[in-house]
Amino acid sequence: MIDLLRSVDSVWLFVFAFIGGACVGSFLNVCIYRIPRGESIVFPPSRCPSCGQRIRFFDNIPILSYLLLRGRCRNCGSPISLQYPLVEFLSAIISLLLLKQFGPTVEYVGYFIFAAALIVVSGIDLAHRIVPDRISLPGILAGLAFSFGTARMTVLDSAIGILAGGGSLLAVTLGYAGFVRLRERFRGTTHQAETEKALKGLSLEELKKEAALYAIDTDDHPNRKELMKAIGEAQKEGMGGGDIKLLAMIGAFLGGWRPILFVILVASFLGCVVGVPLMVMKGRDSKYAIPFGPFLGAGAIVYLLWGVEIMGWYLTVGK
Ligand SMILES: [Zn+2]
Repeated sequence: MIDLLRSVDSVWLFVFAFIGGACVGSFLNVCIYRIPRGESIVFPPSRCPSCGQRIRFFDNIPILSYLLLRGRCRNCGSPISLQYPLVEFLSAIISLLLLKQFGPTVEYVGYFIFAAALIVVSGIDLAHRIVPDRISLPGILAGLAFSFGTARMTVLDSAIGILAGGGSLLAVTLGYAGFVRLRERFRGTTHQAETEKALKGLSLEELKKEAALYAIDTDDHPNRKELMKAIGEAQKEGMGGGDIKLLAMIGAFLGGWRPILFVILVASFLGCVVGVPLMVMKGRDSKYAIPFGPFLGAGAIVYLLWGVEIMGWYLTVGK
């Protein structure tokens, strides 16, 4: 009887984990849309991006509203991005799997906050090709703080994770910077000149929008020339810079250098399996490379859920 009661209890726990995860996912959608635009994530309430109509609570139910409205705004009928139900569902599933793995513990809470941050970073990186410092830097501190609350790692593990995460990509980025310099010498043109060439056709308004994505204050750079220069510099700095801070955050939460190695391997593998066909499909002349942030995020989630099994399996295959 007690077993039966317990299992009924745990069914409810999983139901709540799924619904709670979907509701958090709804908030994560707001973060993905507003953080790169420098807007508040609390006010004002959500509006349809097409007609500006405020979205009422019964049209704002995670996953369900999208299905009931058949993916269209009730007011103006313009399509709602598939991103919204996908993020809500992803958040709900990850919440469920984390609960299954860790039970109703402080680990579940800590790792779910970590996963939520990874979802937001991935969404923003996919849309804008940036990993915002507004998430990765507080994320590093949150990982350190989490190490005090869990028995799964010590503060030292978390610190080693930060150094391993930041350090490994820093090495790659320094190598890449060397490669860019070599290419500049070979082509006889600088990265700055190439950026300015790419931005040449844009109006001042469009340039300002582009600048906002890199968090450049347009008041500091009022004219075209200044703006193009600032964007070029921000792009150069952004090449891998955001990924370094993201991997440092991942290290802070997972602790130690082994998870970092695992995450980089899985991310590179996923990058090859998913990214390369995408690049071929989109054609070579696409303006940007495929972002690495979502693959790093996926690698971290895979480590949390199945890392121990995968590593155990990998080690026994050789025997
Ligand atoms: Zn609308």
